Amino acid sequence: MTRAVAQVDLAALSANLGVLRARAGSADLMAVVKADAYGHGMVAVAREARAAGVDWLGVALPSEALALRDAGDVGRILAWLWTPGESDVERCVARDIDLSVSSAWAVEEVAEAARRTGQAARVHLKVDTGLTRNGVALGDLAGVLDLLRAVVGDGLVTVEAVWSHLADGDTPGAASVREQRECFERAWEQVLASGLRPGMRHLANSGALLAHPDCAYDLVRTGIAMYGLTPAAVLGASRDLGLTPVMTLMADLAHAKDVAVGTSVSYGWRWSASTPTRLGLLPIGYADGLPRAAGAPRSGPPVEVLVDGRLRPIIGTVAMDQCVVDLGGGSRVSAGEPVVLFGAGDRGEWTADDWASALGTIGYEIVTRIGPRVPREYIGASGEVRA
Ligand SMILES: *Cc1c(COP(=O)(O)O)cnc(C)c1O
Repeated sequence: MTRAVAQVDLAALSANLGVLRARAGSADLMAVVKADAYGHGMVAVAREARAAGVDWLGVALPSEALALRDAGDVGRILAWLWTPGESDVERCVARDIDLSVSSAWAVEEVAEAARRTGQAARVHLKVDTGLTRNGVALGDLAGVLDLLRAVVGDGLVTVEAVWSHLADGDTPGAASVREQRECFERAWEQVLASGLRPGMRHLANSGALLAHPDCAYDLVRTGIAMYGLTPAAVLGASRDLGLTPVMTLMADLAHAKDVAVGTSVSYGWRWSASTPTRLGLLPIGYADGLPRAAGAPRSGPPVEVLVDGRLRPIIGTVAMDQCVVDLGGGSRVSAGEPVVLFGAGDRGEWTADDWASALGTIGYEIVTRIGPRVPREYIGASGEVRA
């Protein structure tokens, strides 16, 4: 055991992918491994996802896609977020990485990369159906399609897919999903009318797969549910969805001591002991990704961690490297005691989703922010990699 560790259960990841595959029907799955696989470790997660038969990996950045290639991944990878002049675009084309295009400049840059590398660029045309982030607006689609037809005709580009992203995909019955889907269908018809014949459409992330299965189309881009967390509380907890949280965050107590009534704790003395009690020092803080707002007193109930089979509150201001736990009067717990901050929930510990709901955020943010100073420990790897 080191100071703190994020244990990543790859068997749980595989099982979650099985659940999602069953939900996706005939659609393929894309394992979204951007942002270091939401903090779980990109390369290990990507390997396990491939071993579980996932056809696609999805990342935001070209640099993330190239890191997957450097780690030996040879399958299909899509990268969707880049800016004009991105120097990795040419390397992505040379290394068979699919790129999303949302504008004329992006089409021109991939075509230029194809000219220089001598290899056709594979693109996914993103349309803005209402999220209003990236994506070609429907009003600009005709111009981008003209440009695409020209570079496809020159053999520089192949259009593999048309895709978009939903604003409320995780909300059952959301009116915006119906609107966006209609817009997506109109865009698709316009693409076909232009003479282009992309083989795929993709629209759904985890939440949309669970709440709007009719949005699955040919490929589902699944992130959070693969990591065993719920896309949105309204869909139910992991357990209700048949998912198992993949990351368990643990730390050993660095110190423990009895304190007298009235003893104040940590910066600002925001918490004081109302009875004699025993305190434990957790050697993990906001530099490691713990939300600084986690320490009691808070406006809501305290955030609790599992110590010696019991839930104990984090008290006082969370510091950069450490925070304090109230072990309770009469506790015999001492330095070296293992503490579970969050995990699968099956031993009574909180889940990352529990942290999220207590802190007014989403499970995505809780796990993604666990920083590089916390080593990842992998358990349950299949060891089997299908070609
Ligand atoms: C991050 C991301 C996803 C994955 O979303 P989840 O909600 O984690 O399943 C899918 N598509 C795009 C475009 C994304 O940016």
